[in-house]
Amino acid sequence: MARKTRLPGRPEGVGDVDGRRSTAVWLVVAICLMAGLWLVLGMFERPGAQVAYSRFLELADQGQVEEVTSEGARLTGVLRTPIRQKDAFGQEVEVRHFVTYVPAFGDDELMARLEKSGVKVDARPDASFPWAMVLFYVLPFVIFLWIGSRLFKRAQSDGNNIFSMGRSRARKYDRETAVRTSFEDVAGNAGAKAELQEIVEFLKRPDRFSRLGGQMPRGVLLLGPPGTGKTLLARAVAGEAGVPFFIISGSDFMEMLVGVGASRVRDLFRDAKRSAPAIIFIDELDSIGRKRGTGLGGGHDEREQTLNQLLSEMDGFESHHHVVVVAATNRHDVLDPALLRPGRFDRQVTVDLPTRQDREQILKLHAKNKPLAPEVDLVDLSRATPGFSGADLANLLNEAALLAARADHDRIYQEDVEKARDKVTLGMERENLQLDEEQRRVLAYHEAGHAVVAASLPHADPLHKVSIVPRGRAMGATEQLPERDKYVYPREDMLDRIAVMMGGRAAENLVLNTATSGAENDLKRATWLARKMVIDWGMSERLRHMAFQVREENPFLGEELGMTHREYSEATARLIDDEVRTILREAYERATEALQHWRGGLDRLADALLHEE
Ligand code: ADP
Ligand code: ZN
Ligand code: MG
Repeated sequence: MARKTRLPGRPEGVGDVDGRRSTAVWLVVAICLMAGLWLVLGMFERPGAQVAYSRFLELADQGQVEEVTSEGARLTGVLRTPIRQKDAFGQEVEVRHFVTYVPAFGDDELMARLEKSGVKVDARPDASFPWAMVLFYVLPFVIFLWIGSRLFKRAQSDGNNIFSMGRSRARKYDRETAVRTSFEDVAGNAGAKAELQEIVEFLKRPDRFSRLGGQMPRGVLLLGPPGTGKTLLARAVAGEAGVPFFIISGSDFMEMLVGVGASRVRDLFRDAKRSAPAIIFIDELDSIGRKRGTGLGGGHDEREQTLNQLLSEMDGFESHHHVVVVAATNRHDVLDPALLRPGRFDRQVTVDLPTRQDREQILKLHAKNKPLAPEVDLVDLSRATPGFSGADLANLLNEAALLAARADHDRIYQEDVEKARDKVTLGMERENLQLDEEQRRVLAYHEAGHAVVAASLPHADPLHKVSIVPRGRAMGATEQLPERDKYVYPREDMLDRIAVMMGGRAAENLVLNTATSGAENDLKRATWLARKMVIDWGMSERLRHMAFQVREENPFLGEELGMTHREYSEATARLIDDEVRTILREAYERATEALQHWRGGLDRLADALLHEE
């Protein structure tokens, strides 16, 4: 019964399954089996029993032999009439097909003798060399050696090898090898593109700037939430300038061994300088670039060493090296101030969540190679996706294409897009979850409660969708969409928003005279928002126009574990709690009033939900 969260989670990368190694293993097994089978079959295939060579000559002279086939020293043949002879187990058997071997000293007269007695003679190439044996015993060794050497090589090139531990892990994309990314692949983000254009110019014609004594920035920091196209932009800069691009993620510097990170940094810069002009792109800079000196104990030494090395490398290269360091982070606030001072990452480019227009452009870009039905309106879709990042939008269209393919559609229809949007924002439908009538009734009233309050309050966002189909972790959803993207939220909007969150619980209470655990998420979010209103935005009656600091003492331990330091008294703390409680209580009362007023509508909506879904 959680209400929809507007920021969908980032799509998770699918693990890279290594299929090649297991294919090789299967190949070896198959070859061994085949070789073994060949050997065994070869033993059975040998036709007939062995007879002594002199006995064979005797039989030939008597005209008993019908035909022989020679394969080197081995002769196989057929007798006209079977003879009786003892086999290897001393048993008397009839022999018609026989085998015999020509003695090593040869027999020059054999051919003449056979001809004389009218034996049909045939010959096959010498098969005495035991190929099956060779395959059976030698081939597996060869294959194992080959696989072993390949694994070894790969381990080395991965940098997992102990000898190459300190080597940089940066992947280099050269002019030739990279799929060229250009600014055209980045939709929207006009401001960021304009700022980066200058870097492109510099990398293309470095002398133009240095001639006039100008210094180009060494570092550009891209700031913004995940999925907004920071990596894409950095790649586009390299593509536009046509220079080699070294990409490394902040977490790649971190290893178990102390000192490895620092030597990786050294390595990376050396490589880049060698192929200058070049771009070094450090993704997730915050994982090495956090403020120093705040760690507990010595656990952060490694990180600090790495950071120090990075700082000194950035100081160490002059602008004539023609290397630009571009870094990306979504935690600007935790970066060490030393990184941000002039001469290091002095340029900062903000890459924000896309605006309505930008979303439209991103959707258009990603829809280019997808057959959309004419009914799909990307402008509408861009309106219905506030808070989506570029990556979310790309993911949305991709999901739509997958759903369309699954439904055997010849193109992507509006319904596929709708379904994909629900899937991205709310999670997968849980079809196997069976709820009984009683639970569905509670659910229906809960969601209808949110919806009716949303529809009746003047400052609440317009209602978009109500559903009691369980998806992801939510049992139902009420979705509202703002008419336009909002960047500042007035107090009235906040209060109405909290009242809408309370609508679910209020309906449970009003109609069914109960309270369910389904309101957990609603209550948590309402409380969080109310606290934020009081503490940060100065929006409560008694504590107006005042913000209260809650300082995090330790940026490494996160909010839960870190000691937070309140910069206000116990009395104020009590006052804050009071104010939060008042906001929540009033919101609940307003929700209940709205529901009482629209009781008929509430019943009809709950009814419709029960019967339509
Ligand atoms: P970040 O590095 O900011 O987390 P990425 O650059 O890795 O985000 O973006 C992930 C994907 O999202 C890109 O590969 C691209 O497909 C899509 N994307 C994000 N922003 C945009 C944009 N402005 N224009 C086009 N595609 C985008
Ligand atoms: Zn709810
Ligand atoms: Mg990225």
